[in-house]
Amino acid sequence: MTLLTIIAAFFMIIGALTLSYSLITTKQIIAALPTGIVSSRWLVLRKLITFFILAYAGFFVFTLLYGADTSICLIAIVFMLGAGFVHLVCQLALITVHDIKRISVLERESTTDALMGIFNRRYFDDAIQNEFSRARRYQLDLALLVLDIDHFKRCNDNYGHQAGDLVLKAFAQLIQQNTRNTDIVARYGGEEVVVVLPSSDLSAARICAEKLRACTQQSMISIDQDLTISITVSIGIASINSTMDSSRELFKQADAALYLAKQSGRNCIRTQQDVLNHQT
Ligand code: GH3
Ligand code: MG
Ligand code: MG
Repeated sequence: MTLLTIIAAFFMIIGALTLSYSLITTKQIIAALPTGIVSSRWLVLRKLITFFILAYAGFFVFTLLYGADTSICLIAIVFMLGAGFVHLVCQLALITVHDIKRISVLERESTTDALMGIFNRRYFDDAIQNEFSRARRYQLDLALLVLDIDHFKRCNDNYGHQAGDLVLKAFAQLIQQNTRNTDIVARYGGEEVVVVLPSSDLSAARICAEKLRACTQQSMISIDQDLTISITVSIGIASINSTMDSSRELFKQADAALYLAKQSGRNCIRTQQDVLNHQT
């Protein structure tokens, strides 16, 4: 066996091993990706890499059987560099997939309330401004509900803050389940939840609010085997009109309606119109 044959065989082995390592990396990439077109493309790439490993093995056997000259040796070096290139690309792709996943988790966390599992105040502040601008520009309806659990302090005082937290979580789920996907449900703060209803006028918002009020009243929130808590909610409603100049005004009117609902005995709904009627 000549020195050139040994060198060519050596580069073939290194190339095949590098490609085999890339197979492991591609497996990790596929595991990290959701099933879909991208992961199926990576499966195709895996098959291609397997094919190349077999080709390298064949070339290795060929080299051993027939010996290698300088050109065979150069081909073996180029093959090895090719394998190194594939390996590097796979490693970078794996790092990129992990980075993107990390960023999407951070993005979700930065807009989600950790306790209630719905959007947080930061998300709501942006969303209501955007929806307000959109409604203004395209002359669409827009309504806002502000919900506040009645006598929630008593719930904490009677059953403890941990039970209170579970009630808040269940309440948020209830609101989320009973609104549309296009509605925006967010925690405004404390035990207050806001629901943005795009393309909804006051009467549609009233129907939605009544549904939420009724299902909250009917809900039995199970804390543990021996404890089930019932709550009620008061809701203030406002819808966009031509005199409003900002989303802040929309919120202000919904909040005033909520205040009136509390004054009116709680577990009820009041609108910006009710506030006006009450003032006159
Ligand atoms: P009202 O019917 O007038 O709304 O009465 P309320 O007792 O619900 O209103 P108040 O604003 O006096 O009390 C709200 C309570 O919500 C007080 C606070 O301890 C509680 N709270 C706010 N955030 C949380 C939380 O994250 N977890 C728990 N367990 N309680 C919270
Ligand atoms: Mg409150
Ligand atoms: Mg309250």
